[in-house]
Amino acid sequence: MAKPLIICRNLDIIYNKGKSNEFRALSNASTDIYEGEYIILFGASGSGKSTLMYAIQGSLPPGGGTMRIGGEDIYALRIEDRVYFQRYVMGIIFQQFNLIPSLTVLDNVALPMIFANVDKPTRERRAQSLLDRFGVGMVSHKITPMLSGGQQQRVSVSRSMVNDPKILLADEPTGNLDSVSTQQVMDKIDEINTFDKRTIIMVSHNAAHLSYAHRVYYLKDGAIVREVVNPQRKQIKPVKEGETIVTELEQLARLFPYDSVDTLRVKSLVNLLTQDYTYDQLVRMESIISHFIAGKVDKVAVMKALIMPYERGGVGLPEKDARRMVHTSAKIIGNADDIRRFRKQQNNDHAFFGQHKLAERLKDHLLHAHRLKLSKKQDQNLTELIADRVVGVSGEDELNAGMMKGVTAGGLALSEKEADDLTRYFEKIIALGVDVSYKS
Ligand code: ADP
Ligand code: MG
Repeated sequence: MAKPLIICRNLDIIYNKGKSNEFRALSNASTDIYEGEYIILFGASGSGKSTLMYAIQGSLPPGGGTMRIGGEDIYALRIEDRVYFQRYVMGIIFQQFNLIPSLTVLDNVALPMIFANVDKPTRERRAQSLLDRFGVGMVSHKITPMLSGGQQQRVSVSRSMVNDPKILLADEPTGNLDSVSTQQVMDKIDEINTFDKRTIIMVSHNAAHLSYAHRVYYLKDGAIVREVVNPQRKQIKPVKEGETIVTELEQLARLFPYDSVDTLRVKSLVNLLTQDYTYDQLVRMESIISHFIAGKVDKVAVMKALIMPYERGGVGLPEKDARRMVHTSAKIIGNADDIRRFRKQQNNDHAFFGQHKLAERLKDHLLHAHRLKLSKKQDQNLTELIADRVVGVSGEDELNAGMMKGVTAGGLALSEKEADDLTRYFEKIIALGVDVSYKS
């Protein structure tokens, strides 16, 4: 089995050690990162994301623990050898671009090759071809302050790739960009991962970026508190059973490997709405619901088909059941569409805001559907639990456990049965919203 490219073990990073302002920015951090992975270090401002990234880059000697890259303990290397690592094994992109304003774009990109003793024609040819590739070839003769932020960041992407590094590090590379430029830069970085097969380690606090990554390390107060696998990408790191966040839709996908995602959505929804109907009724219901999900028929038509006697081509449900079914599926489909849109949206500067609004809406729907009355604090906790689940930082079990936890611990203090019902229902919505087609 392949070994991880980057092995970080029990790393402590302490700033100003021994001084009165000594500060422990990272405690006991361990990561295994495999070649070709796209990793996001995610967390609030000040949680230690950049610290971990610069520790990987070799510029923050640890107070404890080890950092191995390609088998080498990089902090045990002689300084020249560590510089070699930084120059040829790693490329880096900063939020502030860090371009030299007095040099042309071409010279900025060619610069790292001077230290590598590459001759001038080769340097310029290679720099130009990278600039062309990242869509800024036409401004190569300009000085960098003349460029827009998005262009400057694509120049830094070109520069980071100039010595053909194995690993690309990026510290909030879109933090200073508008949404269009953000999308362009994210697409280029994605391409470096999927096409050039480079390992990417990106610092971000934008939830809308998480869907690019294979895995996300979630940091809080200087510690890695969670590792989350993105079910939408085919994993490189061997995943232990039960580690992935598995939605019902994915489970169904394994059961019915030849069905399309839409068919699976239908099965999942029908499965929720029906307990005791005959197989033939179910088949007809699936067909009606699939038209409904696809937006081909409206509520009235679904209602009619559900009520119509079986002999006449309908499902033959009592009117009360049919009404409940139409009402519930319309709600679920609406919410699932929201989640899908949210997870697709990859260039939204207001992702947290959007995430919160979506979570609020889903929470209201849940409360309504289950006729639950919650205190203000429970209500807030539920919104948080849902927000985490929707972006994929928590799994079904954690959502369920959260609902049973005490209110002061961030939970809802529900009984096991209540929590199970609510979780089951919510997972349906999630299942319908997640696209399981692997990007590969
Ligand atoms: P993030 O990238 O998640 O915003 P950082 O890794 O930059 O967080 O910082 C983590 C903590 O370490 C913060 O509280 C920050 O103030 C502190 N810190 C970062 N760099 C230094 C430094 N050079 N000296 C002292 N404290 C620092
Ligand atoms: Mg930072």
